[in-house]
Amino acid sequence: MITMKEVWKTYPNGVMAINGIDIHIDKSEFVYVVGPSGAGKSTFIKLMYREEKPTRGSIQIGDEELSKVKERHIPYLRRRIGVVFQDFKLLPTLSVYENVAFALEVIEESKANIRKRVMQVLEIVRLKNKARFLPQELSGGEQQRVAIARAIVNNPSVLIADEPTGNLDPETSWEIMKILEEINNRGTTIVMATHNKEIVNTMRKRVIAIEGGRVARDEAKGDYGYER
Ligand code: ADP
Ligand code: ADP
Repeated sequence: MITMKEVWKTYPNGVMAINGIDIHIDKSEFVYVVGPSGAGKSTFIKLMYREEKPTRGSIQIGDEELSKVKERHIPYLRRRIGVVFQDFKLLPTLSVYENVAFALEVIEESKANIRKRVMQVLEIVRLKNKARFLPQELSGGEQQRVAIARAIVNNPSVLIADEPTGNLDPETSWEIMKILEEINNRGTTIVMATHNKEIVNTMRKRVIAIEGGRVARDEAKGDYGYER
């Protein structure tokens, strides 16, 4: 599903964030990306959804080579790769329903079908009863659930999450993890950067540790491996 070959990333200011990464992630895998601050986790993840371009190397998602995707096609790519952020990034003036519907790629869909799909994903994140609410009227955990609904509304094969529980308390973080696990169980590949030691060490999944822009560890049922 995701293949990186000899990927390097040097930012324009000269910082070498990623220094030769080769990885392969299969369909339906759930992968944690861990490592100290500044190790290159965010850059690694941004390369996957084409927020950053590699300086060298190739990145393939499904049958698509990311470097070959034209600028104007990036919005379409984003709909096939769902992304969830630490700070949710919801549109504040739109309702929960509208935030999700806005992301839905609609090609001559009837209003009824759009509504059906939006309500379907709101059901998955258990927010059907708050469809009319504005983001500011929701708790942090609920806002993250809206962001997840938005990320999966186009049924992407890959869901990328950059510290999705970073702003949430432990209990709420577990709710989010349960939802991500359900989405993964339906066949979506999930790649999640995290500092949450408890979650990584409890929900044993593949762990890729990044240090100094390289893969320092890659374990099938790995642990967090750092103090915090
Ligand atoms: P992590 O997510 O593990 O904290 P990052 O990928 O954010 O690591 O950062 C890796 C390195 O790249 C750090 O030295 C960081 O300061 C640098 N970096 C990140 N983003 C940029 C950027 N847009 N421009 C320049 N340097 C950056
Ligand atoms: P902007 O960043 O231009 O304000 P949006 O508010 O539409 O754009 O989106 C916020 C972030 O969420 C952007 O980084 C965008 O790429 C991302 N995003 C939008 N729709 C989706 C989606 N369906 N799946 C994953 N990420 C999305």
